[in-house]
Amino acid sequence: MLDLGEPSWRGKQISEALYQQWIAEISEITTLPSGLRRKLASGGWQVARPSIAQTFRSVDGTERYLVELPGSGPENQTVETVWMPEGDGADSGDESDPGDNQPEVAPSFRRPSGESVAGTTAPRPWSRATICVSSQVGCAVNCQFCLTAKLGLQRNLTAGEIAGQVVAVLTRHQFRLGRDRINLVFMGMGEPFLNYDNFMSAVHLLVDEVGLSPQRMTVSTSGIVPGIERFAQESPDIRPRLAISLNAPNDRIRAEIMPINRKWPIDSILDALRLVPLRPRERVTFEYVLLAGVTDRPEDARELARLVRRTGLPAKVNLIAWNPGPGIAYSMPPLESVAAFQSILIGEGTPAFIRQPRGRDIFAACGQLKRTVEA
Ligand code: SAH
Ligand code: SF4
Repeated sequence: MLDLGEPSWRGKQISEALYQQWIAEISEITTLPSGLRRKLASGGWQVARPSIAQTFRSVDGTERYLVELPGSGPENQTVETVWMPEGDGADSGDESDPGDNQPEVAPSFRRPSGESVAGTTAPRPWSRATICVSSQVGCAVNCQFCLTAKLGLQRNLTAGEIAGQVVAVLTRHQFRLGRDRINLVFMGMGEPFLNYDNFMSAVHLLVDEVGLSPQRMTVSTSGIVPGIERFAQESPDIRPRLAISLNAPNDRIRAEIMPINRKWPIDSILDALRLVPLRPRERVTFEYVLLAGVTDRPEDARELARLVRRTGLPAKVNLIAWNPGPGIAYSMPPLESVAAFQSILIGEGTPAFIRQPRGRDIFAACGQLKRTVEA
């Protein structure tokens, strides 16, 4: 606004229009004088908010969106965003999240499996929900089990594109601040800590402008050590909770399935992690994808429990049964091995939760929706 010769508070008005009133067209920002709105439009300015291009609704209430990013080229203009009503199951019973004792409310708007539905708003009711947000188009990290990796890194998302996914989904579900409980997980496509500045700017938009709580946000990283070190410096008023995609009990297996481990091995990640000043009752989450015969054996569970103990940190483990995807030569773990893995961890004193697969019927594996739809 200053560049256009306008007072800076006009910028604040625009920010409020975008992030509090969720206005998607400059012409509708009525707090701006009509002359200024015309000037912006004729100067080629647009809100260019990410918009939901396609919706896939699962029998379990999960919705996956192919989100279009206006203003980018045809090759790299979509990412995936996911809506999971009633939380994502993984944190139920986690006493570090005070709201999790609330009774579950069954979603009353279930639709047939895999149906693609049109429209920009969805029926209520829902009482709480988790939104899974993407941070990059594709990813450069190359984890061998991940479909997003197959896209390679196409580009970073801007802060507005990251926060805009949330605004688009909140608009669709008629979210109201103060009434509805929303958790955000930065666990969609991409590695947030390889797009650090834009990721943290998006968190600022979501906290300072939209009004969401950083304590209800979790960012997941594959273990980008310089990113974790920067994250440790962020103020507790803005810093989301942290999850590390550990996925293996030792460096040998981890390097095999996550080549990035050769650059930043487990101990370097743990050293960086110890720098993060945790808030009262806050725990670090270790995510652990179970790959049949590779990471799901009882000895892996025992080794993982020792590793988590060795960190000396308040921590919990979220177990994720691997979601299959085309062209990836791993197998899903049998249900019994997931349950046995959890029992061993708990028996060793390590809190462990099984992350329920959501939306299996609608291309559940991250990256699968974009690839399937675009193919
Ligand atoms: N890049 C970040 C965040 C996005 S991936 C990271 O890796 O942490 C989010 C989580 O999904 C990670 O824990 C990752 O290990 C897991 N994941 C990736 N592909 C998966 C698949 N096919 N099935 C199950 N979990 C998967
Ligand atoms: Fe990237 Fe995360 Fe997939 Fe690894 S698991 S390739 S870091 S998105």
